[in-house]
Formats: sequence, C-alpha cells, structure tokens
Amino acid sequence: MPYKFTFDLSKVPRFFFTEIAKISYQRGMHKTFLNNLQDLIKKFRIQEATGLNLSDAIIILQDFIEVQSVNLVERKKFLKAKKKALLLPHCARKYMDSRCKALFDPNTPSYTCAHCSPDCLINKAESIAKKKGYNVYVVPGGSCIPKILMRNQYEGVVGVACGEEVKMAVVALSQMNIAGQAVPLIKNGCANTVFNMETLVKVL
Ligand code: SF4
Ligand code: SF4
Repeated sequence: MPYKFTFDLSKVPRFFFTEIAKISYQRGMHKTFLNNLQDLIKKFRIQEATGLNLSDAIIILQDFIEVQSVNLVERKKFLKAKKKALLLPHCARKYMDSRCKALFDPNTPSYTCAHCSPDCLINKAESIAKKKGYNVYVVPGGSCIPKILMRNQYEGVVGVACGEEVKMAVVALSQMNIAGQAVPLIKNGCANTVFNMETLVKVL
C-alpha cells in the first residue's frame, strides 16, 4: 500500500541519510531515538523542504530507519547469496505512458526495459545490476513479487520501493528464507518516483 501522503526528499542533502544510518543503531533507546529524529527533521529543515507535517516526516524517517536496520541484519547472509534478483518499481520509469517502450509480460510478471531513455533510473539501474549478474524485474506492484520468487530459487533479493511496500516485502522474503536488501524511494507518489542510484550501487 502506498503512503497516504506524498513526499520528495530528492533535494535533501546526502548527509541526512548518513545521519539516519547512524541513529538506526539507537532504535532500542526509544526516547533518545525520537528526540534524535525530531532534531534531524529540524536540522535538515525537512518540513520546509517537503511540506510534510511533523508526524508524516517522523513516519518516513522511522521507515527509512527500519529499512536500514533490516539491511544491516540481513547483510552477511545477502553477501553469501549466489543467485540474486533486483526488483525495481515501475513507478520509477521515466515515462508512465506509451513513451516508455518497456514491454510487460504478464506471465513473469514484469516489464522489460527497452532502453529508450539513457537518463531513465530504471534503465541505469538495470544495466548496472545485470553487469553484476542480477536478474532484473520491473514490477507493477508488490503482489507480483511472490510469483517471481516462487518460480526462481533466489538466495538474495534487492528491492527498491516506498517504505510501506518494502516492509511488506521483508515479511514475504523472511518467510521464504531469502536474504533481502532494500533501497527506499526518496520521492513517492506512484509516478515519476525517485531512488538514489548511489545507494543502490552500494547495496548491490
Ligand atoms: S528506459 Fe526503459 S523503463 Fe525507462 S522509459 Fe524507456 S523503456 Fe521505459
Ligand atoms: S510509490 Fe511506487 S512502490 Fe510505492 S506503492 Fe506507489 S507504485 Fe508502489
């Protein structure tokens, strides 16, 4: 399910995400953790930059931190995985209409990028991941993921999606004993969404 609000953190400095990674370690200390979240929101003027209210900003940060924590826990297992897949969200395609030349195969179910636009995030991510030996899927929604995973014997999966979708995928992956790594979208909205390529490359 998407968030009930939209956000765009694509203009927030990279340092903000480094700070998020740091405070992920403090999750156990609830009061310190919440105070730190609020300090971070203030320091990076997240509300001014995004128009989000404080509680929505906290929801996003908490989800970012949860994703970061799962990545840390699963990292060792993921690094040992031999057969890996990258799941990309269709909403990050440069175009959501017929200008996107990707073909959708309902049997997979996945889009296959036709590389029509060099500056398309999906195109770039797919090329990088394929060179690293990943099978790449561009999925229209989280409900396609179990079908893809059940047909293939993946040991490791990297998923790019908004925080709420990632949280659902984490449950599905752990039930299938697959090591998961996630890259959360930094701009949601179900169209023209954005993820950080640098973060994805690090995770891959
Ligand atoms: S590069 Fe691929 S995913 Fe992006 S718009 Fe073109 S066909 Fe679609
Ligand atoms: S923002 Fe993208 S990943 Fe999130 S629910 Fe919408 S389509 Fe799915």
